[in-house]
Formats: sequence, C-alpha cells, structure tokens
Amino acid sequence: MAPLPWRDIAAVLRHCLLPQTCAHCREDLLPAAASPLCPRCRLGLTPAEPPFCLRCAEPLPGARRLCRACSGRPFACRLMRAAFLYRGPATGLVYAFKYRGRRAAAKAAGLWMAAAFPRFPELSGYEALVPVPLHPRRLRERGYNQALLLAEGLAPALALPVWDILSRSKSTRPQWDLDKESRRRNLAGAFAAGPQARGKSLLLVDDVCTTGASLEECGRALHRAGAARVAAFVLARQTL
Ligand SMILES: [Zn+2]
Ligand SMILES: [Zn+2]
Repeated sequence: MAPLPWRDIAAVLRHCLLPQTCAHCREDLLPAAASPLCPRCRLGLTPAEPPFCLRCAEPLPGARRLCRACSGRPFACRLMRAAFLYRGPATGLVYAFKYRGRRAAAKAAGLWMAAAFPRFPELSGYEALVPVPLHPRRLRERGYNQALLLAEGLAPALALPVWDILSRSKSTRPQWDLDKESRRRNLAGAFAAGPQARGKSLLLVDDVCTTGASLEECGRALHRAGAARVAAFVLARQTL
C-alpha cells in the first residue's frame, strides 16, 4: 500500500483534534472535506431563480416585472441578484461564517456564488467587486469581514479585482426588527467610498440581502464618489 501523503495525514489529524461538522445539520464531514456543508445540505441550497422582480430579485409570481417597492423610481443600486434563497442550509452556512468564526465557509460560499454567476448575464460588464463593509467595531469583534471573504472566493472565476473601497462611518443599530423605512433612516449616510470609484461600474458583494436597504445605501455612497453604475450580487436573498 502506498503511504498516505502528508497533506492527507495532516487533514486526518486536524479532523481528530477539531472535527468539522456540516454547518447546517452538524453531521460529521469527511476529514479532507473542502465544503462546509455535507453533500445533502449542499444539494439543499435553493437557487434564486426567476420569476422574480427584475430589480431586487424578490420572488414575484405572475406577470409583473417589478415588485411594488421597486416600481416607479430609480435606484442607486440598479440590480440585485442572489445565488440562493435564504432558507434551509443557506441559513446554517451564513451563521457558520458570521457567528461561529468559520472563515473557510465564507470562502467556499464565494466559490458557490461563482458557480451561480453565469445564470445572471445582466451582471456582466462590471469592473470590480466591492464588499459591503462592517463597522470597525464589528470588524474587531469578528476578526474579518465576511463580505470581503465572499468577494475573494468569487473574484478569480470572474477575473475581477476586489476593491475594499467602502467604509462604514456610522455605527447603526441591528436591523432585524426594523421595517423598510426605518432601515433606510437607520442607514442614511452610514457609508463612504474612496476616489477609486470614479467612472467605474462596480458590483457590490454581501452575504444576505433582506430589503436591500444596505446595498442601496452603499450604491449611493459609490455614486457620490463618482461611480458610473452599481449593481449587487449576494450569497442569499431573504424573501419577504
Ligand atoms: Zn448537512
Ligand atoms: Zn423589487
């Protein structure tokens, strides 16, 4: 029998010391598994597919092209698309890199976003990926910005650079219990963009989109800095 390569031995040892479990169902993963989800949960991720609102990708049954919120006014973030719906294994996956410190889960999720990207030809022609920033205090607590890790996982497949040019100047309260209008007020003026944005078409990257208020506020900051066009691609779309 051929001896095991060192890489495999190291993976087995690491697994014995720190067993990796599926981010959703907590089943043990194989020692050298690169995926944060077991094969069954990976297959359980629900792609975000039409019919949906042509701007914000909110699922939209019937013949309407735009949801009520997106009708009749222009937006700084002109398009939003998501790889998956925020349900089932997608919630465990996001929880793992957001609250359980599993950075590798964010990188893997970025690769899955890359695999979903060709479904959205309307997102082609952008020049750089711009992660949605965390407030510096949140960044210190977590140790990393998960949106930056997602963008770094996604970037090679798209052959685009990652520009970490947005900053979050205002500490905002958590948004989960706020309605759409309160979210907008809570976020107003929270972001600022660097001069690199001038004249560029930029694709925002984030983990979860709920109402799209953060993406829209980031879009405004990029336009204030002179960006030509802003859209967004997120890992998961929460449906309202
Ligand atoms: Zn699982
Ligand atoms: Zn919409």
